Amino acid sequence: MSLRSTVDFLLHDWLHVDTLNQRERFADHSRETFDAVLDTCERIARDKFAPFNRTVDIEEPQFDGEKVVLPQATYDARVAYAESGMLSAAQDYDIGGMQLPYTVESAANAFFACASVSIGAGMLTVGNANLLMAHGTERQKQVFALKEFAGDWAGTMCLSEPQAGSSLSDIATRATPDGEGFEADPLGPRYRLKGNKMWISTGDHELTENIVHLVLAKIPGPDGKTIPGVKGISLFIVPKKLVDAQGALTGERNDVALAGLNHKCGWRGPVNTLLNFGEGKYPVRGAGLDGKGAGAIGYLVGRPGEGLRCMFHMMNEARIGVGMAATMLGLAGYYASLDYAKTRSQGRPLGPAGKDPSQPPVRLIEHADIKRMLLAQKAYGEGALALGLYCARLVDELHTGDESQQHQAQWLLEVLTPIVKSWPSEWCLEGNSLAIQIHGGYGYTRDFPVEQYWRDQRLNMIHEGTHGIQAMDLLGRKVLLDKGRGLQILSERIQTTIALADRHRESVEDHRESVEDHREPTEGHREPTEGHREPTEGHRERSEAISLQTHALALQQAWTDVVQATQAAWQGDDPALSLANAVPYMQAFGHTVLAWVWLDVALASQGEGDANHGRRQACQFFFQYELPKIGAWLKVVNSRDSTCADMPESAF
Ligand SMILES: Cc1cc2nc3c(=O)[nH]c(=O)nc-3n(C[C@H](O)[C@H](O)[C@H](O)COP(=O)(O)OP(=O)(O)OC[C@H]3O[C@@H](n4cnc5c(N)ncnc54)[C@H](O)[C@@H]3O)c2cc1C
Repeated sequence: MSLRSTVDFLLHDWLHVDTLNQRERFADHSRETFDAVLDTCERIARDKFAPFNRTVDIEEPQFDGEKVVLPQATYDARVAYAESGMLSAAQDYDIGGMQLPYTVESAANAFFACASVSIGAGMLTVGNANLLMAHGTERQKQVFALKEFAGDWAGTMCLSEPQAGSSLSDIATRATPDGEGFEADPLGPRYRLKGNKMWISTGDHELTENIVHLVLAKIPGPDGKTIPGVKGISLFIVPKKLVDAQGALTGERNDVALAGLNHKCGWRGPVNTLLNFGEGKYPVRGAGLDGKGAGAIGYLVGRPGEGLRCMFHMMNEARIGVGMAATMLGLAGYYASLDYAKTRSQGRPLGPAGKDPSQPPVRLIEHADIKRMLLAQKAYGEGALALGLYCARLVDELHTGDESQQHQAQWLLEVLTPIVKSWPSEWCLEGNSLAIQIHGGYGYTRDFPVEQYWRDQRLNMIHEGTHGIQAMDLLGRKVLLDKGRGLQILSERIQTTIALADRHRESVEDHRESVEDHREPTEGHREPTEGHREPTEGHRERSEAISLQTHALALQQAWTDVVQATQAAWQGDDPALSLANAVPYMQAFGHTVLAWVWLDVALASQGEGDANHGRRQACQFFFQYELPKIGAWLKVVNSRDSTCADMPESAF
């Protein structure tokens, strides 16, 4: 099935996004306006992104000593994306937005990620501008965010430093007030920043006339010391080129210098940089006491010490965005390997008499093992897409729902955000590996796209919180918050799906009985003898309803096991041991969540036709081949297994 038909099904038949139009914010929208957005994005992705996915991989960004050099395709794709209006799709009409639901925005962006995640489509710029809309002053919104939404300027997120990645409390970048009257600057309290930021995506380029860096730094107290931990972190706007209070460029270059590029394994389209702030390469408005520059000029966003809180305010959407990128890479690999398996011939089928060498070879897709690898990719990719759009829908509930919907969405997002980011990152990577496997030796060459998908994908378990950090966030914080409120609400949703599977079975049985009760034997009609009975639509429905109910029982058991393991992990008084198996816990949690999603999707796929059949089969695959894996993961969590924790360094 095409990506478009899958997206349409999930949006309309499963998530019923059209009902969002009953809310005031989305009242002007309809199925037609949603379709028009998807059509436009699909077209631009096909014309400006897909043909250049390999180009941006081969022609990776270069630094010529002055400027970053990027392929022309990156410029063209960026212009096309900005002109589509997608940078400001979710914003209010009065600032040029479309007031599009986030669910539809996420679905529309999926086409770009499937065509070329590597070229990138403004995720950082939108995240940066959204943050300013939530936490900036009116002037900061007008001057910086609106320019970003219009596509004139780009945005970055500067959190990481060479010595501080997962542990942001150890950042060394410092911000000091910029002289007398620093607080009165119309652009926000003005500071001078000094420090180094590592891994900054799109940190320098000529794609836009300016770049708005959002930078985390600590403000030392009068004694020169900073508050330890994350409480001491503040957030600053540091533009590459300075602007006046109306947002016009002043002609001054800020002291943000490109120190070098990181040469990546994959996802090579966006330049990745080490940036030096305030080291005197571009001294601005004064030489500083040491004569090496007074520091890069930055404007405080929010209050001092609230930098990480502001950044994390945008976390749900950023992490859904990473999960969706991982998902689309997974699906891109699936579509490529499906095409390949349909055309390449290899081997002969095994009959009762063994292989018949006189017969022509069959296509790969006719082998059960190839179907296994295709079904796994379908189950991972389409399951992850369903989860991503479900979480996007929760973001819409959070922003526009009534009080109860907002409450539920907030708690569900607490527990589902680590999953929506991590699960596709891990399992769609496995999917990308299977896509290579289906191609055999050809998959290991650059003549086919699947090796690039794997390399591009490999980033997703590392950025936006590594896999290990996500797992500790889930088991160490999210499931414990407010006595497990998030778990409880998720549990209610899972029970609803289980009850739906029971009702579905009952209604199929009722229907069957009533059909049989009313069947009039017609003249000349004879019941087929036992053993020759053709499977009818009614029989198919019944046996599938039984298997969905069996899956519901398996889901019930899996969820009970996950909840019990959550309690078992926290027995005892050693949190280090409780969290030692956080990743296996997250794997089991994630697989159970995906089993729930698949059961719910399968229940919505009851009609005839290949698309519904395919979804029901992928659901079946997930319950038969994937869900049973949770037993091994939960075993070490339940027993608080200390094999890894106990291993002495010297014994490695
Ligand atoms: C291509 C790319 C783009 C990026 N873009 C940006 C960007 O735009 N802006 C930005 O600010 N950052 C960016 N990053 C940085 C990214 O967020 C970090 O790489 C990530 O946070 C991990 O930090 P680190 O690389 O220093 O690894 P480390 O923090 O050193 O982690 C190394 C390993 O140790 C594990 N680990 C760390 N601490 C613990 C612990 N307490 N307990 C158990 N295990 C632990 C981790 O899970 C990981 O497996 C990017 C990174 C890459 C590779």
